Amino acid sequence: MRGDSRLRTTEMSPAETLDLAEFHGDGISAELSEAVHHVAAQLPMEVHFHPVDLSIERRRTDAEGSYQDAEAAIRKLGVAIKYPTTTELESPNKVLRDRFDFTVIHRPVQTIPGVPTRYAGKVDIHIVRIAVGGTYEDAGRRIGTEAAVSVRVIERRPSFEASKFAFDLARKLKCDVVSASKYTIQRATDGLFEEVAEEVAATYPDVQHHAELFDALLAKLIMESEAYKVIVTPNEYGDFLSDAACGMIGSIGLGASASYSFDRDGRVKLAMFDPAGGTAPDIAGQGICNPAAALLAFGMLLEHQGYRALGGALNDAVRDAISAGNTTGDLGGSLNTMGFTQEVCLAMKARLTGSVNL
Ligand code: ATP
Repeated sequence: MRGDSRLRTTEMSPAETLDLAEFHGDGISAELSEAVHHVAAQLPMEVHFHPVDLSIERRRTDAEGSYQDAEAAIRKLGVAIKYPTTTELESPNKVLRDRFDFTVIHRPVQTIPGVPTRYAGKVDIHIVRIAVGGTYEDAGRRIGTEAAVSVRVIERRPSFEASKFAFDLARKLKCDVVSASKYTIQRATDGLFEEVAEEVAATYPDVQHHAELFDALLAKLIMESEAYKVIVTPNEYGDFLSDAACGMIGSIGLGASASYSFDRDGRVKLAMFDPAGGTAPDIAGQGICNPAAALLAFGMLLEHQGYRALGGALNDAVRDAISAGNTTGDLGGSLNTMGFTQEVCLAMKARLTGSVNL
């Protein structure tokens, strides 16, 4: 994660610029982009978007060219926002993950007041997931007709990078880190993951750490969600946990996630932010999709780039708009994409009043 050198939003120069790559996809991608640009135009700095076409039309005829463009843009600028893409022949998300060496996914999951949920408690957690390995790299194979096998891989480097990211985040949030796996059963693989987490923990004497068994963690998270803030975990557990936590807050489509690659010292090299949820082809082009997740992704990007007050205000503003009932149709409201985006801008302005002149 970048240093917090640009926290002084009150003193931000209007001449300041933020350059980022923007990966356009399919379906509602164009409308999500329009919403993000609208918010960006309200910020007290110049945001320069460098577009890359990852749409299915381009990929059908020039997949390699589209990925090369994406790679060139993110390697030059260090940071990208990506909108949903259709998976046809290949999964663009997997291609980008492999090309950019993304090894860690950060998925914040936070209760949004006003979104109906069966779970009464509050959730405010950061899932830091190793983005590679586990059982997901190996398709496995059948042994005859009655058995099948797959290989589970845990590597030291991604375990180190995920752990370091989690501890840096916890230090910033002034909270503990819980590492979660099945280390009593998967002694070799999860044992290695926990060993690395321990080693990293030893270099953060100011951040408390303990390991929990993943199954127990799921139960405790439901019974005592307030006890958790930063959880670091191997690939497949992180996948399960992300969806379970999203179910607790009543939506799997309302969040955003960040993917990171790192240099040799465990510092973030490339970062890509994308909204949860798919291309929603059934409503694409109608201007009615919910841009909340894309705006949350942009908020995470701002925070990562050091604009913590602005990113935080955008995150809060999305939640303010939803909890005030100013929502798009999918959440029971009557606003269209731009109407909701304008509500978010108003809420952001209110949040920042006194600290930034928008
Ligand atoms: P994909 O194949 O890209 O995942 P999909 O339609 O199968 O597309 P989603 O995009 O997740 O899957 O859509 C599932 C349902 O949720 C659809 O009815 C879609 O309209 C709705 N939906 C998804 N995203 C949004 C959004 N941002 N705003 C409003 N409705 C949405």
